[in-house]
Amino acid sequence: MATATKSLKKQGSDLAQSNKQLEILSNGIFKNGELPTFKAKISETNQFPLKAKKLEILQINVGYMCNQVCDHCHVDAGPDRKEIMTRETMKQCLEVIKNTGAHTLDLTGGAPEMNPDFRWFVEEAAKAGIKDFIVRSNLTIIRANKKYYDLPEFFKKHNVHVVSSMPHWTRGKTDKQRGDGVFDKSIKALQELNAVGYGMPGSDLRLDLVYNPSGAFLPGDQSAMEKDFKKALMEDFGIEFHNLFAITNLPIARFLDFLIASENYEDYMYSLVEAYNPAAVANVMCTNTISISWDGYLFDCDFNQMLELPVNSKSKHISEFNEELLEGRNIVISQHCYGCTAGAGSSCQGVVA
Ligand code: SF4
Ligand code: SF4
Repeated sequence: MATATKSLKKQGSDLAQSNKQLEILSNGIFKNGELPTFKAKISETNQFPLKAKKLEILQINVGYMCNQVCDHCHVDAGPDRKEIMTRETMKQCLEVIKNTGAHTLDLTGGAPEMNPDFRWFVEEAAKAGIKDFIVRSNLTIIRANKKYYDLPEFFKKHNVHVVSSMPHWTRGKTDKQRGDGVFDKSIKALQELNAVGYGMPGSDLRLDLVYNPSGAFLPGDQSAMEKDFKKALMEDFGIEFHNLFAITNLPIARFLDFLIASENYEDYMYSLVEAYNPAAVANVMCTNTISISWDGYLFDCDFNQMLELPVNSKSKHISEFNEELLEGRNIVISQHCYGCTAGAGSSCQGVVA
């Protein structure tokens, strides 16, 4: 994979449009019957329609701006993306956070730290006392500019659970996927997080890493990879962390673009369908999550947000959030969902089965 410098949107690529992505996912090998659609597949085990259960996780995407332009990014994030959550929408989110029964709050982006109101929002949201308050940090943002250098202390002050992308323990594989210099900055950021107590054995300051494959293949066994990451990062850099989540790349946005450009799209879809695990369906993350976009709209997950597939519910926006109405809704699915049910399954918290 080569490293891009602009988002698909900035490049004016057709694939920046969600309807183009959905067309690709619905036509070809799925239309001509070579492969079963996701709906047909889950119907085999009477799991269609996929239904939302009790809400446990609120995932808020505070904007698509990012200091990186990773090749696999399902958000199509980058420095050129201007979609940023306003303080007004954040205030609406805070109302929901205070009143929800959800136990986990998960802030994502882009690089969420680049939203000018990020710190204000974290300070306010932390007051709600939600059990698990996650910030997804790409690590390099901590070293991107002096104004971010104190993020480890800031995260500690608000008892934030840091979940960080780290595609590999070697410089070559990491930089190939995420850009030159990303590995060295990520290592420095991890050391700084360790220095304030994050990721240390027995520490309540949670630091987890996220691995996703650097090409058109599925992740290996999560626990085996965690052991390899722990050994290598400790031996080479003295770094500690708690858990590793292995995430499957879903065939949308820049990863879909890569699959098509490298002529791997059909093979990758075959691998996802062949690895389909009906046991993973019951626990896919949309069953207990609501994803909120930068402009306040509600989605079943961050992937559906990027495909602009809104929730199938009368409660469609944070301003009219209704947990009761959302519970039991039919989840909106397409062929990208195979990415969540391959092998041991995949979610923002790693395997699900
Ligand atoms: S994968 Fe994460 S760090 Fe990379 S461009 Fe996308 S949002 Fe930014
Ligand atoms: S892509 Fe989203 S909607 Fe589809 S199975 Fe995964 S979490 Fe659910």
